[in-house]
Amino acid sequence: MKIAFFDTKPYDKPSFEKYGKEKGITFKYFETKLNEDTVDLANGYDGVCVFVNDTVNAPVIDRLCEMGVKVVALRCAGFNNVDVKHAYGKIHVLRVPAYSPYAVAEHTMALLLTSIRRIHKAYIRTRDFNFSLAGMTGFDLHGKTVGVIGTGRIGRAFIDICRGFGMKILAYDKFRASDLENGGIVKYVELDELFSSSDIISLHCPLTEDTYHIIDEKSIEKCKRGVVILNTSRGALVDAEALLAGIKSRKVGAACLDVYEEESDFFFEDFSGHILEDDILARLISMPNVIVTSHQAFLTEEALSNIAETTVHNIVELFEKNQCPNELCYRGGNAEDCKSGKCF
Ligand code: NAD
Repeated sequence: MKIAFFDTKPYDKPSFEKYGKEKGITFKYFETKLNEDTVDLANGYDGVCVFVNDTVNAPVIDRLCEMGVKVVALRCAGFNNVDVKHAYGKIHVLRVPAYSPYAVAEHTMALLLTSIRRIHKAYIRTRDFNFSLAGMTGFDLHGKTVGVIGTGRIGRAFIDICRGFGMKILAYDKFRASDLENGGIVKYVELDELFSSSDIISLHCPLTEDTYHIIDEKSIEKCKRGVVILNTSRGALVDAEALLAGIKSRKVGAACLDVYEEESDFFFEDFSGHILEDDILARLISMPNVIVTSHQAFLTEEALSNIAETTVHNIVELFEKNQCPNELCYRGGNAEDCKSGKCF
C-alpha cells in the first residue's frame, strides 16, 4: 500500500517508518499541506495521511475520489478540518480517537503553572543574572475553582491533575459522565455558572457548530475578573479578538493558548525572520500574561508512537476488512449524526 503523507515534520517519520515497514505500507512524505493546490500530489496513491491543518474540504475530497484515492487517514483526533458530510459515502475517513490524553492534559497544566508562577519571565531574567522578584507574585492553585468544558479523555486527565493540586472542579459537557458526577469528582453546571464561578477555564471539547467561539465577548463578560483561560483544544473555540479585548481591559488575567483560530497560516513553521502578518496573534504574543505554544500539546514520544501505530493499524484494517472502528460514520451514522458526534 502506498500512502501520501502531507504536512510532514521530521518528528513524524521515525514512528511511521517503523510501523509502516512492519505492515507493508510505504509512505511518501510531502512537506506541503494538503489543499486544493496540492491534492494532485496524491495521484497514484491508495490513501492520504493528514494532520490538523490540512484541508479536506469538498473540492479536495472530489479530486481524491477522481484520482482513485480510497482513504483519508487522519493522524489526529479532531476532524473539524474534514467536510465529513461531503466525504460520507465517497471516501473512507479514519482518525486516531485517542493517543495520549496525558500529553495534552499535562501540557495544559504546564502552561497554567508557567503563566501563573511567571516561569517564562523568571527563565529569561535569571539567564540575564537578574535575580529580582519584582512583578513575579503568583497565586496558589490549591482551593481555586477550575471550570472544565468537555469531560472526555483529555478533560478527565486534566481533572485528575487538578484534583492533585487540591482544586475544585466545575464541569460542562453536552453529555455528562455519570461516574464523574456521581463520584463527586466534578460538579456539572450550566455554562453561565461555569463562567461566573471559575478562576480558571480550560477547554477540552471538540470544535463543532455548537462550540465555535464558546469563549467570546459575551462569555468573557460573565467571567470573574482575572480569569485564566486555557485553550489546548482547537483555536476557533475562542474568539481571539474578544480575548485580546478582555486582556486589554484586565478582565482576563491570563491566557494560555496551544491553538489559535488562524493557526494554519503560521503554526509548525519558522517565521522568526519575518514580519508576522496577523496583528491579533502578534498582539497576543506581545502580552506579558499570554503564553502561546504552536499546537505542541500532543508532542510526546508516547503520543507520536501511539499515533503512528493506530494510523497504520487503521489503514491496514480498512483495506483488509473494508471497515475500521476508527472510521467516521462507519456504522451508518449520517452526516447530521457526525456533526453532533452521536455516531461514535
Ligand atoms: P473526547 O471525544 O474524548 O472528549 C470530548 C468531550 O467533549 C466529550 O465528553 C464530549 O461529550 C464533549 N463535547 C462534545 N460537544 C460538546 C459541546 N457542545 N459542549 C461541551 N462539551 C462537548 O476528545 P478528547 O480526546 O478529550 O479531545 C478533546 C479535544 O482536544 C479534541 O476535540 C481536539 O480538538 C483537542 N486536541 C488537541 C490536541 C493538541 O495537541 N492541542 C491534541 C489532541 C486533541
